[in-house]
Order: sequence, then structure tokens, then C-alpha cells
Amino acid sequence: MRGRQFLFVPGPTNVPDRVLRAMHVPMEDHRNPDFPNLVLPLLEDLKKVFATKTGKTFIFPASGTGGWEAGLVSILSPGDKVLLSRFGRFSHLWGELATHLGLTVEIFEEEWGSGANPDRIAERLKADRSHEIKAVLTVHNETATGVTSDVKAVGAAIAAAKHPALHFVDGISSIGSLDFQMDSWGVDVAVAGSQKGFMLPAGACFVAVSEKALAHGMESGKNHRVAHAYFSLTDMLTNNAKGYFPYTPSIPMLHGLRESLNLLLEEGLPNVYDRHHHLATGCRAAVKAWGLKTCAVADHWNSDTVTAIVVPSDADAVKVISHAFRRYNLALGAGLDRLAGKVFRIGHLGDLNELMLLGAISGAEMAMHDCGIKIELGSGVAAAQASFQKRTRPV
Ligand SMILES: *Cc1c(COP(=O)(O)O)cnc(C)c1O
Repeated sequence: MRGRQFLFVPGPTNVPDRVLRAMHVPMEDHRNPDFPNLVLPLLEDLKKVFATKTGKTFIFPASGTGGWEAGLVSILSPGDKVLLSRFGRFSHLWGELATHLGLTVEIFEEEWGSGANPDRIAERLKADRSHEIKAVLTVHNETATGVTSDVKAVGAAIAAAKHPALHFVDGISSIGSLDFQMDSWGVDVAVAGSQKGFMLPAGACFVAVSEKALAHGMESGKNHRVAHAYFSLTDMLTNNAKGYFPYTPSIPMLHGLRESLNLLLEEGLPNVYDRHHHLATGCRAAVKAWGLKTCAVADHWNSDTVTAIVVPSDADAVKVISHAFRRYNLALGAGLDRLAGKVFRIGHLGDLNELMLLGAISGAEMAMHDCGIKIELGSGVAAAQASFQKRTRPV
């Protein structure tokens, strides 16, 4: 098929041409004396995206899942209890990973389509007088259900309970797209991934760690920490301090990250967040005009990076996705886990503007119509157009 494929899964996202070009570089010696000129500013600029002044940032050669692991193993000890709110595929997988690493995971089941409940977390922490719970794990943006949790409120709940638990946040599909304030929200470990808001290929994860969490890691290291080697924050810190890595980094990825950070900082992070909100609002207007609902159980849960659309109960979302791909060259996100067949997702994060998203909305509309779902052709597109027109300045 001619023309570009419309890539509208919530990661990998579209890689801007500037980033693609920046990655097209010859290899170099990663121990050469100029290399720190590339590395040190990357670590500093990452801090701006996480909004941390006092934390340390890390780049690991792994997908986001590796970032989950790096944070947990370097800071916690085997058997440590962590409190995880589970409300979708990704929060489920994070809990599984923590269990495999030998941590004890206490799970708060929340309805899929909702998110973390700060009051419930505060109550549990207040009751934990012996401070058995070492960390609270929050998925900021549950990509499977298109739901954003209030990380700031969870941080405030931990503080209000006067509990020393560390706050670990999965920001893989939020950081770089949605407002995120590591220091002022009291986040201790935050994980981001290259292939979502950072508009890069998969293969790098970015982890930011607070001073409190680093100190906790040093302390547990004296006794026993979860066994680890490759994902050592200590080895990274030692090498990063001089602008190097303990092992060979992906050089194109680092050059791509330089350009991706340039793009985010040139646009201005508040403008990036505003653009995502604007695009998501248009997408939600389309869903409403189709007479369909998102997965979110209430409007305030709806995510600005991904919309999970529930198809009518007699329709099959798998067919819609496959038809959109084969007939219109449009890649939509699948429903995961218990949402398989019930939901398709439109990812609207990263390098994206109104007309690109209108193309995806139009394609989803045609695909649903072709598959016999009773929606009016053009209805979603028109609703999104009207929503976009309310803004007078370009995105
Ligand atoms: C994509 C994603 C992950 C998994 O990241 P990988 O890069 O696939 O390992 C984890 N959590 C969330 C919220 C995600 O969106």
C-alpha cells in the first residue's frame, strides 16, 4: 500500500523525521573523551521531563519492563511488601514482575476503567503501624484501559499517613505526554519508556530515582537486596558521573534521545501536555458521536494519551482492528486480557497533530462501519473537527 501507514497504537508511536535523521549516525567509541558531551546533557535534560531537581536519572538499554525491574531490584530487599493498585493489564504485569523478583505484593483490586484510590491507600498505610509496607506502586496511565490515576493525590495520601513507604510510579505511557512532577508530587521512582511519549524506537527506558529511594537502596544493600547485576543503579551512577556507561550503550538511541528532548523542550512541556489534552478531547468527542463509550467508568479517569473504545456487545473489536489494518493501513491498539474483542484503542501520544488524528478517527469509523457496527459515517470525524475548531492557535 502506498502512503504512510497510520500508526495509532499507544506505543510504539510515530518517530519524527528529525529523530530518525538524528539516529542515522556512524558508530563511535563509547569511551572516547568527547562522549560525555553527549551523555551528561541527556541525563540533565531528562530531569526536566521528570520534573526533578534532586533525583538522579538513568538510561537503561531495555524496554519499559526493564525500567520496572531496575527500580525494584536496586532499592528493595527480598520479601519486602509492596502495595499495588491493579486495574488493567499493565498494573497486573508490574505486580507479576515484582512477585517473580521475590517481593510480597499486596494487591488492591480496583475496577478496570478506574484507577488508584488515594483514600484506600492512606487508610491501609495508617493501619500499617510496623511499616511493613516498603513501597506503593502506582501506574500513572493504564494504557490497557485508557485511564489516568491521580499520582499527586496518591503521593499526598502517603504523606498524610506519615508513612515512610516509597512511591514507585509507572509513567511509561504518560511521562513526556502528560503533566508529571516527580519532586512536588513526592514520587521516589519513576519509569518512562522510549517508544511512547519520547517518540523513539523501543529499547531504552528512563528511570528517575529520588535521593530518599537511593539512600534506602544503599541501606538495604548493606543487608540484602534483590539479586541483580545488569540493572545496578550503583554501577550506573559511578559511570554516569563521568559521562559513561558500565557497558556499551546504543549510540543511535542516545542521539535520537538528544533530538527527542530537543523537540519536547523546544515545544515547551506545558504546551506538549496541552496538545495531548486537546487531541484527546477531540478523540473523545468522536467516541461520543458514535454513540459508544470509553472504558473509563467516569469521565475524569479518561487518559489524554490513549482512548480505549468499547464496541457494542454483539461486535468483535478484533475484527475491526484487523479490517482497519488490512483495508485502510491503520494500526489500532488491541483490547488486552479480559478486554480482548471488546475494546480497540486509539493511541494519541507523541508526534501527532489534529489532521493525523482525524485520519485515524476516520479510518476507525470506516472500519467499524464495514464490520456492521451501526454508526453514522462522518459523525465521529465531524465531532472531532468541531472540538478542534474551538482552538484558534495551531497545536
Ligand atoms: C508500554 C507499557 C509498559 C511496557 O513497556 P515495554 O516497553 O513494552 O516493556 C508498561 N507499562 C505501561 C503503562 C505501558 O504503557
